[in-house]
Amino acid sequence: EQHILEVNHLQKHFQVGSGQTLKAVEDLTFAIKRGETFGLVGESGCGKSTAGRTIINLYEATGGEVLFNGKNVHKMKGKDLKQFNRDMQMVFQDPYASLNPRMTVGNIIAEGIDIHGLYSGKKRKARISELLQAVGLNEEHASRFPHEFSGGQRQRIGIARALAIEPKFIIADEPISALDVSVQAQVVNLFMKLQKEHGLTYLFIAHDLAMVKHISDRIGVMYLGKLVEVTSSSQLYAKPLHPYTQSLLSAIPIPDPEVERTRERIILQGEIPSPLNPPSGCPFRTRCPHAMDVCASVVPKLNEIEPGHFAACHLY
Ligand code: SF4
Ligand code: MG
Repeated sequence: EQHILEVNHLQKHFQVGSGQTLKAVEDLTFAIKRGETFGLVGESGCGKSTAGRTIINLYEATGGEVLFNGKNVHKMKGKDLKQFNRDMQMVFQDPYASLNPRMTVGNIIAEGIDIHGLYSGKKRKARISELLQAVGLNEEHASRFPHEFSGGQRQRIGIARALAIEPKFIIADEPISALDVSVQAQVVNLFMKLQKEHGLTYLFIAHDLAMVKHISDRIGVMYLGKLVEVTSSSQLYAKPLHPYTQSLLSAIPIPDPEVERTRERIILQGEIPSPLNPPSGCPFRTRCPHAMDVCASVVPKLNEIEPGHFAACHLY
């Protein structure tokens, strides 16, 4: 198997006021195959966006490493770094905040083209209309400004911008969370269509499992900076192992009445603890319905429980 991305024991800590350490990402290990979509899921504040930003080299890692095509992202220089800056692109959560309101859509989309000096004049213009069409817009849109577009259209513009310099890998950080439910499926379908056409690999970040279900081949569930479960999308929905995943899944309404009977809603007690002061042992133990004595003292490792199915929990 060829992995385009390998994340090994990645750690990202921030020093905050009064000498405290915010352990946003702690010992994150997973790999993504070429052409695959890996969904990274967890509640807000669990470190998933920080993980994405560290992987794309917007943040330096505090520990561990990120390998892209076998090369350490945080040590790249010169040609390698330049290529990496083309190969990996990001689509952001907020299509309102991420597009410069004073720039035309055409110039926004062409930002990467201009930075990398790829095309100019007629070729640049042709490339912009090609990109607009690829995301379901058209060439007349190039001369307009972001405020003239709906949320869903703006996210299409953000996707066209990411695609402009022919990346191999896209990190989509909650790209549909800010959109109307009716528009979300359209944007997910667009991501899937573009993946087929361009052979893209995705890291698709979301705060709930319903949003990544259709697009992900595999899914990683994060809690307080750590991965608690990783497996194929189908396996995760059919047989979630970690109590946190079970609670997340129980919150998703299932239209099939056969399935509904077997899945009871699990309501978690309490709030997600502050990442400044995480619980000892298992990070989930303060809310876990199955917590045992050992959970307070021993940190559960992410172990392979069944082939390809990893969970960090003392129940297994
Ligand atoms: Fe619950 Fe213990 Fe498993 Fe953590 S290790 S999820 S507290 S049973
Ligand atoms: Mg976020």
